[in-house]
Order: sequence, then structure tokens, then C-alpha cells
Amino acid sequence: MTDVEKRHATPATLEWEYAPAPEARDIVSFQQRYGLFVGGEHVEPRTGEWFASISPATEEPLAEVALAGAEDVDLAVGAARDAYENGWSGLRASERAKYLFRIARILQERSRELAVAESLDGGKPIKESRDVDLPLAAAHFFYYAGWADKLEYAFPNRGPQPLGVAGQIIPWNFPLLMLAWKIAPALAAGNTVVLKPAETTPLTALLFTDVCRQAELPPGVVNIVTGDGSTGAHLVKHAGVDKIAFTGSTEVGKAIQRELAGTGTRLTLELGGKAANIVFDDCALDQAVEGIVNGIYFNQGHVCCAGSRLLVQESIAETFVGKLKRRLTTLRVGDPLDKNTDVGAINSKAQLEKIRELVASGKEEGAEIYQPPCVLPEKGYWFAPTVFTNVAQSYRIAQEEIFGPVLSVLTFRTPEEALEKANNTAYGLSAGVWTEKGSRILWMAERLRAGVVWANTYNRFDPASPFGGYKESGFGREGGRHGLEPYLRFE
Ligand code: NDP
Repeated sequence: MTDVEKRHATPATLEWEYAPAPEARDIVSFQQRYGLFVGGEHVEPRTGEWFASISPATEEPLAEVALAGAEDVDLAVGAARDAYENGWSGLRASERAKYLFRIARILQERSRELAVAESLDGGKPIKESRDVDLPLAAAHFFYYAGWADKLEYAFPNRGPQPLGVAGQIIPWNFPLLMLAWKIAPALAAGNTVVLKPAETTPLTALLFTDVCRQAELPPGVVNIVTGDGSTGAHLVKHAGVDKIAFTGSTEVGKAIQRELAGTGTRLTLELGGKAANIVFDDCALDQAVEGIVNGIYFNQGHVCCAGSRLLVQESIAETFVGKLKRRLTTLRVGDPLDKNTDVGAINSKAQLEKIRELVASGKEEGAEIYQPPCVLPEKGYWFAPTVFTNVAQSYRIAQEEIFGPVLSVLTFRTPEEALEKANNTAYGLSAGVWTEKGSRILWMAERLRAGVVWANTYNRFDPASPFGGYKESGFGREGGRHGLEPYLRFE
């Protein structure tokens, strides 16, 4: 323990322990095997190939999942086209709304089961899947159910029409929530979809197929093709797809943009980030500490808009970092199904290796590392919450997206310097500003090159609020009325 930590350590933080509070595992039962969801049926993949989805917390296999190839993707796109042309596109908008509304209600009814499934398959703490992922996923379907029959009001005198078949590729950090972000606006606008979940987290998308069945959604309106990156690539290349919506890494996003250049296929990209969370000396310090912790350790830092760079004003840097380190000692890392857990498992072995590699580079380049004392489980993929101080702007840990529970701390003296440093990144997805002065918030928000700027809070989401990036964080917006536009053409 450093001197600062000793000064702040109280007997309570040293001696107090939480009793285990496990959520029931048996509320969810996975099938041994899941086929592809095409035309309302679960079908075997033409490739004949399967892979296991494992729990990153225990490395236990949870279920076998189909690996879709080009022929499978073709069948799914065909089913989506058929459903679009022979029913869905001609359905009264108020009827479409009813399906979305039903899906939202069923997600609420089954939220406990789906939250447990999400935590098992992805490693995120149950209190996050229960209190964030599931309520927001349902809220997205409710919200877009409301828009389905009001498109003429949303886009007056523009004659909004659906595009046709949307191909949607999602990542592993918020599997069901990203599915909701993609499927709800697409369906509300009158499209049908083929969605590819991430390789490491396909199970809630497969459970969602049962939600579609319960809601009596017409066959082929939603199709789910599981697989790996090659499955996503087949979907992108398919000539029968009218629009691709992708969330994931900037690298894959760029490859998709190259692939689609000149084809006329619509595209939206929601890519990485390296957000600055900027703390001024006049802010409420303890509130800001909570915001910084939430900004980077929420969902193990597997968040595209994570506040992974803390910019703190030099005059309060020592005090602030002391408080932050003390707060870190109280974070509970471990079993995702324990309701007390703050930081769960890293999503995959590959992601753990990437985090380790970037953390090693930070040490080599000269940054100072701090990790609170915590015992990590022996099995599974884990990484302790980490803070780097003495970070220079040129270090990889200040430039690259780590996508893990790792915070890089930099300092500044003036608002101009904070702004310069915050914008010194290839990304532009989000930022946070902590200050008592409203005028400073507005001054900063106007100049920060970021799609979302949170003031005296962080990681707040609402279906009515558009989300998306500048620069290498992508283009297009999801959420709000803006989120409908990429799924429509105008007469
Ligand atoms: P990817 O970008 O590879 O994955 C996102 C989705 O795209 C997955 O469904 C993936 O499938 C699919 N995919 C992969 N390759 C292709 C391709 N050539 N064409 C079409 N689809 C493809 O992210 P990773 O999972 O590899 O994560 C790597 C890094 O990306 C992370 O460390 C993080 O920095 C960043 N990332 C950012 C996210 C964000 O929200 N901004 C989300 C996830 C990752 P599959 O899973 O089967 O490979």
C-alpha cells in the first residue's frame, strides 16, 4: 500500500467482507445445440460445422452453436427477402408496432432468465445485465414500437420507405442490447433483418429467437446466423442485402467500408473509442471518482465509449488519484453471477491477451501501474482493475483502445490544454466533463470532437438519445429519431 492509500484506508475498508449473493443459475437452460434461425425455423448449417460457446468465468462449454457459411447466409438473406416482399413491407405500420411492443413486453417478462444467460455467456456482472442491458434492450423495442406508425411525422414530406433486407453484425460487449439497437429500428422502419451475433456471445441472440416465436413474429422477419468473422464477411458481400449495420472494431469497420465502396449498399459503422473523462478542480470530487470508476470499470471496460483516458487538472491530481485508488480497493472482482460483483470476467482469452499486451507496453514505455490487491479466480479469464499514472500522450495505452479495465491518467492545467489533449485521438465517440461551471461545460461540449458528451455523469443511455461517432469511431447514429434514418429511403 502506498502512503496515500494508507492515509485513506479505514478499518471498514480493511476488514469488511461481503457474503456471497449468487443469482440462480438454473433459471436459464440452454439446449445442447442451436441451429441457425432462418425463416422462423432452427436449421442445421449447410457447412456441417459447429463450435462451442463457453463461459469466460469458468471456461465451461455452455452450448454448441452452428457456424454459418456462404450458403447458409444466402438462405437467411433469401428468407428475409421473402418475408419482406410477401408480408412485412405491406403490413400496416400499426401492426408492425404491435409486434415490437410484444417483443418488448416479453423481454421484460423474461428479463431475469436473459440476464443470467448474458452474464454466463459474456462474463459481465449480473447486476449490470439485470439493471442495464435488459431494461435498455426492452426500452429500445418499446421506443421504436412507438415510431413504427409515425414515420410520416418523423420525416414530414419526405415519403419514408423501408430499404428491404438489413444485414446486422454485432459485437460481444452488449450482445442482447446491441441486438435491440439493431433490430428494433430496422423493423420499425419496415425492413427485415439477418443478424450475426459475435462468436463468443451468441446465446442470448439464440434465446431471442424464442422471444420472436412467442411474439408470433412472421417467419423470416428476423433471421439469426451464428458464426465467426467469415460469416460476417459473407453477409457483407451478399448482393441481396440493402443495408449493413456494423458495430465492432475500427479495423473490421474499415474493411467493410472498403468492401462496400461503390456497391450502393447503405452502411453505418459504430466503431471504437478512446474517450477522455475530464476532471476540473472545481468539480464534486467524490462524485467524479464514482463517474470515472463507472466510466472505465463498467462491463470490464469492454465499452466502446469507455472513459479510458482520465484527464485531471494538475492542481488536484494527487488528491484525486489517491481517492480513485482507494475506491479501487473496494471493487469486487469475481463471479459474474454474484449480485455483489462489480467487475466480472474478461470476455475471451483473445481479449485477455490483448489487454495483457497493451498493459505490458504501458509498463515498458514508462508509465506507473497500480492494481488494488485482489485475488482473481484460478479458472477463467480475469484482469484486475488497473490505473496507469505518468502516462505520456504518445504511449500506446493513451492512444489505442484497450477494451479492458485499464485507465490511463494524464494531467492538464487549462481548459484549452484539456481540450487539445482530449481531441488528440483518432477516435471521437464520447467524452465526459466534470465541473461545477455550466458555462465551462457548454464551452467544452461545443469543442470536443465526440458524438456524446456527458456532463457530471457518464455512461448514461436512453433509447430516445442518438449515439454515434466522429472520425475513426464511425458514422451514422443509433437511437432516437436519428436511428430510424439509416433504415429508410426517401422519395
Ligand atoms: P470485431 O470487429 O472483429 O468483431 C465485431 C463483429 O464483427 C463480430 O460479430 C465479428 O465476428 C464480426 N466480424 C469479424 N470480422 C469480420 C469481417 N471481416 N467481416 C464482417 N464481420 C466481421 O471485434 P473483435 O471481437 O475482434 O474485438 C477486437 C477489438 O475490437 C477489441 O479489442 C476492441 O478494441 C474492439 N471492439 C470494439 C467494439 C465496439 O463496440 N466499438 C466492440 C467489440 C470490439 P466474430 O465475433 O465471429 O469474430
